[in-house]
Amino acid sequence: MKKIMVLPGDGIGPEIVDEALKIIDFFIEESNLDIRYEFGDIGGIAIDKYGIPLKDETLEMCKNSDAVLLGAVGGPKWETTEPGKPRPEDALLKVRKEMSLFANLRPVRIYKPLIDSSTLKREVIEGVDILVVRELTGGIYFGKRERVVSNEDIFAYDTELYHLYEIERIVKLAFETARLRRKKVTSVDKANILESSRLWRETVMRIHKDYSDIELNHMYVDNTSMQLIRNPKQFDVIVTSNLFGDILSDETAMISGSIGLLPSASLGENNSGMYEPIHGSAPDIQGTGKANPIAQILSLAMLFRYSLGLKREAGRIEAAVNQVLEKGYRTPDINTENGKLINTKEMGNLILEAASDLK
Ligand code: NAD
Repeated sequence: MKKIMVLPGDGIGPEIVDEALKIIDFFIEESNLDIRYEFGDIGGIAIDKYGIPLKDETLEMCKNSDAVLLGAVGGPKWETTEPGKPRPEDALLKVRKEMSLFANLRPVRIYKPLIDSSTLKREVIEGVDILVVRELTGGIYFGKRERVVSNEDIFAYDTELYHLYEIERIVKLAFETARLRRKKVTSVDKANILESSRLWRETVMRIHKDYSDIELNHMYVDNTSMQLIRNPKQFDVIVTSNLFGDILSDETAMISGSIGLLPSASLGENNSGMYEPIHGSAPDIQGTGKANPIAQILSLAMLFRYSLGLKREAGRIEAAVNQVLEKGYRTPDINTENGKLINTKEMGNLILEAASDLK
């Protein structure tokens, strides 16, 4: 029996997770799959109920499951700059760290029917297919940080720290993944300035010796942010640190036109993982029926593929999304002049219908 831990979270999280659950239920019934799912609270809702963004019991349930399906966390209600106050996002960092989910995979593909939703020109983005592999449990998000206040001065610092093993495992994963794609890896760093980046680059070069079938290039992060807009088709797999990956993957996401379309997987050493849309909790459209559930549904497809080994079912979900978009159905975030405007639930139902027809 496979166990999925479902954490809907805040804002539009519960609304879009509901649409993904319809699809899980459908496959459980159709193929008689032995999958069970349980729910837990994470983020702001957990702060409201328990005073902390993630209870130990919920974390244990995540660790004991085969995969975690997350909606999104956060919202203005819980935003604070006060040191020591609980923050919804702390829960995400904790799950990633405690489940050793060291690799964040963000695929960015261009859906032909949506090509004009992007702010970039058609000829620049047509055919873009990029996978950003972001290191997730090291670097500046976990290094020592402090704010020091004295009579003479106030200062604050954060530390970018990488252990060799952390670089090695993410780089190997990037090369392995590139083997299943177009066999090209771009390693992004700031080795002209940062010592941690020099260790990163040296390690990439050494590991590359075991992957001589893969084309490798190194690029500074500032140049990468420019190249992604200038000529995104040059990239296949991008591998980079936690901080650079956070920023570049959002930039890469916008090439596709909408943040509401893009899924992500955070993977550990075994098959376990956490799957979530790349967007946040979108409190501005909560409860309006405007949320696009596609990123959540495609995150489920990734969960099926990577953690449950259900490749055919994953493919059916992805093909179903494509079909529905090709037929012109649009949630407001991706709507164009001739689009057929629908709401969150309608989009979920249409994808479910298309997936069930795609036997
Ligand atoms: P956001 O991604 O929530 O929203 C940015 C914009 O995109 C908004 O206009 C929103 O309406 C729109 N949008 C996002 N997802 C959409 C969808 N599925 N369909 C249609 N439109 C969509 O980013 P934000 O506004 O900067 O952050 C809101 C909250 O989410 C904050 O509290 C932030 O900390 C949190 N956040 C959480 C995560 C996470 O849970 N992994 C990630 C990023 C931000």
